[in-house]
Amino acid sequence: MNKVKELFTGKAKTIYSTDDQDKLIMLFRNDTSAFDGEKIEQFDRKGMINNHFTAFIMDKLAAAGVPTHHEKIINDQESLVKCLDMLPIECVVRNIATGSLVKRLGVEDGLELNPATFEFFLKNDELHDPMINDYHIISFNWATQDEIEKMKALTFEVNTILKQLFLDAGMLLVDYKLEFGRFKGELYLGDEFTPDGCRLWDIDTRKKLDKDRFRQGLGGVVEAYEEVAHRLGVELG
Ligand code: 5GP
Repeated sequence: MNKVKELFTGKAKTIYSTDDQDKLIMLFRNDTSAFDGEKIEQFDRKGMINNHFTAFIMDKLAAAGVPTHHEKIINDQESLVKCLDMLPIECVVRNIATGSLVKRLGVEDGLELNPATFEFFLKNDELHDPMINDYHIISFNWATQDEIEKMKALTFEVNTILKQLFLDAGMLLVDYKLEFGRFKGELYLGDEFTPDGCRLWDIDTRKKLDKDRFRQGLGGVVEAYEEVAHRLGVELG
């Protein structure tokens, strides 16, 4: 499969078209950004780790029946994926209160949420990804009612699968963000699942093993990602 044209450069990934119109190549770069691109740094090996990490998670989800865009790893930093028509929506599930939820609602940091809570955000850096609800999505035609229900159901299904996967490896899946897109009339999980877009805490020490290490200047960013991959048994390049 050959790259034809660069279609999109995001903060940590670049997307290329291929000679198959149904497939894209996703390149995981070493760039790490936070605060809507205000803070950017490069970390050796990070693109490789995130590429292998996403492939591992997407394979687990697919095996459990979740439709995902992932096709195969091409090399250490690139994967072949289905060409989805992405919805401009982020789906966030939280098992433990932290991050923007704590700032917004003034609730206790670290509070366990039972049941887990769900939020939609609009994917828009200029507006700092504002929180939206089902009615906004319908009124502005960002997705259909059926797609809203599917996004919620799939995002919670992912929670059931991944909470246990991380728990078995000694980690708490605190929260995470998923993005979905359309392909031939069906909804698929797209984008990535890496420590860039989820929060993972060590179950005993509550040490942060995710992008909060970068956001909060805690250091050891790549080391933490590597530790998570190692604990899960992800094979790295
Ligand atoms: P919060 O709303 O607390 O900032 O984020 C909730 C969860 O979603 C965290 O795991 C965070 O990493 C993820 N998340 C939310 N928005 C984004 C985003 O724009 N990019 C990335 N990489 N992750 C996000």
